[in-house]
Amino acid sequence: MLVRVRSKDGNFRFELTETDDASVLATKILETTVDADPKSVQVSSQPRGGETALHTLKGRNLKSLGLKHGDLIFVSYKSRTPDTSGSEPFPAASAPAPAAAGPSAGPAAAAPKRIWDTVKEDPVDDYWRARDGKITRGRDARFCKHTANGMCDYCMPLEPYDQSYHASHSIKHISYHAWIRKLQPQAGTAPPGSAASILPPLTPTSYKVKTPCPSGNHSPWPAGICTACQPSAITLQPQPYRMVDHVEFADHGLIDQFLQAWRGTGAQRFGWLIGHFEPYEEVPMGIKAVVEAIHEPPQDDEPDGLSLHLPWEDDERIRKLASLSSTPLTIVGQIFTDLTPNPDDKTKSLYKRHPQSFYLSGLETIFAAALQLQNPTASKSSSTGQYSSRFVTVVVSGNQAEDVDIMAYQASEQACAMVEADMIEASVEPSQVRVKEEDQSVARYVPDVFYRFKNEYGIDVKSSAKPCFPVEYLIVTLTHGFPKEPSPIFRSVKFPIENRASLQMQTPDKLFSSLREAHAPDVTDSKQGLTPDHRQQRATLARLLSDWHLLAFLDGMGIMGDDIKAVVRAATAQSLEEPTLLDGVLQTDGWRNLMAITAESAPAARSAPSGSAGGFDDDISEDILNQIAQEQTGASAGGSRSRTCPHCTFENTHGGSDCEVCGLPLG
Ligand SMILES: [Zn+2]
Ligand SMILES: [Zn+2]
Ligand SMILES: [Zn+2]
Repeated sequence: MLVRVRSKDGNFRFELTETDDASVLATKILETTVDADPKSVQVSSQPRGGETALHTLKGRNLKSLGLKHGDLIFVSYKSRTPDTSGSEPFPAASAPAPAAAGPSAGPAAAAPKRIWDTVKEDPVDDYWRARDGKITRGRDARFCKHTANGMCDYCMPLEPYDQSYHASHSIKHISYHAWIRKLQPQAGTAPPGSAASILPPLTPTSYKVKTPCPSGNHSPWPAGICTACQPSAITLQPQPYRMVDHVEFADHGLIDQFLQAWRGTGAQRFGWLIGHFEPYEEVPMGIKAVVEAIHEPPQDDEPDGLSLHLPWEDDERIRKLASLSSTPLTIVGQIFTDLTPNPDDKTKSLYKRHPQSFYLSGLETIFAAALQLQNPTASKSSSTGQYSSRFVTVVVSGNQAEDVDIMAYQASEQACAMVEADMIEASVEPSQVRVKEEDQSVARYVPDVFYRFKNEYGIDVKSSAKPCFPVEYLIVTLTHGFPKEPSPIFRSVKFPIENRASLQMQTPDKLFSSLREAHAPDVTDSKQGLTPDHRQQRATLARLLSDWHLLAFLDGMGIMGDDIKAVVRAATAQSLEEPTLLDGVLQTDGWRNLMAITAESAPAARSAPSGSAGGFDDDISEDILNQIAQEQTGASAGGSRSRTCPHCTFENTHGGSDCEVCGLPLG
């Protein structure tokens, strides 16, 4: 077969066979170069990006690399320096030798792992990679002339990226996995980790100047720049695919609860979406973000907007807590309101976001892009092992009928690359985005930026995007909805929501009193026998705990320590009625500790002299209370200025009367 090679030395053609080892190709490429350092030779199926070091492919035959007759390979390399002049083309072998070894043969096993082979993707990616994603069609009564078992052009399954299918089903973008199949059709048939995955089809978009310059001919930007290291001109275009197709709220109550803040104060509200990704069957190879909870971080809300306290100090804790769920959860996006009551009819919300204004403002789009950059998606189809992001942005605002409605978006890959290269900023006009000026003092290089549109005569026009361009060029629209049969992971929404000081407060007292109401301190191990009453009690307690906001508050108190894991796992289980569900929780020290404090904090118990725990019939809490009483005596005898909290054992150094951590009296 004929293989074409393009490098800075020109275009070359080689006659090779499918079974030739990559080292044969390497030898031929090296012959065309001017004093190349063999280890620096990089190949790619595209002019920029996706480069693979040629020497790492040794041991693979050309067929297994996916090379076909007529393929064009782009080659880049560095010239030998005195240091590298002695190095051999293939350090592991004495000389490149033609070998017909298949990918599974010895040398390949020793080849360094390519990063995209080793990344762990989301389970939803495993799901789609295991399927061909073809769109099945029934027998067409008009055109199919064959029997029920036959198949013809009219009823043959369609590829997952079939354009007419998407158009006829009003699907605006093809899904991420359909996009991968379109770029690399053989990916669906090749065994994972071999052949087709050698050169992954995706390369993250980058508009940054390459440093150091691959040509090696000048000092890094901003000291110098050339065609090899500068980003090429950008033409903004609608993104054909989307990383997430649909946003599903696991329960209607989620949005209602979120809106209570706005209803109660008239100020806008922000939240992080806690959820997971699932296949979305309405779109070929589609993915949906399923939102299970909305966590509201500290924020300053105003009727005309809001500001966040970033970086959010609880970010890591909340992500870790979410990951403990029986279905691991993470932060899948952001949600915010933009609601203005109609002055003539306060039950209506103004229709502010429409084709004549904007859907997502320039500022919001840039913020979404920044968050997407912080939340990259692991990808086996990308040369870096990561590609774009599944982080979604949901806006709650008035629709055309002036009802409160939900809209879901993502910033495009181009938007993220422009934000990463620091080349755009919000404009005073929210429907516009500004291209920043080039500034060498902050190493900002801005190439030409264009966007295309149809002018008033219907003619396709390419226009410079400097200084401003419409924000819609950076936005991808998603659909949203609610499940027909909701089965939310969190079954309770009774506990107050965090950071809503003006409406409701999360306090240790609220936690303890709701635990007491559920008779939590009386719930015992299932091995001690279960009457129907016991079962009822356990289910009630499990339901109480199955509340994201309660779990997040309990975790933040620190009483449970690592034992919070058992609580979260039980509280997010498929069935909360399972009688043995709570056994793993009841045995933990953290839970015993919590129950002791809960019992102790009861209004009646508080007035009783501490240490005499005779009022309790629970042996465990009695022991702990005695222990606490001893520690308390010890602490005061020592005359230390720090006071140990009798409830949670936190060392308080302040002069107040209540514990800093659990808020209970220090005694
Ligand atoms: Zn047919
Ligand atoms: Zn350069
Ligand atoms: Zn305390």
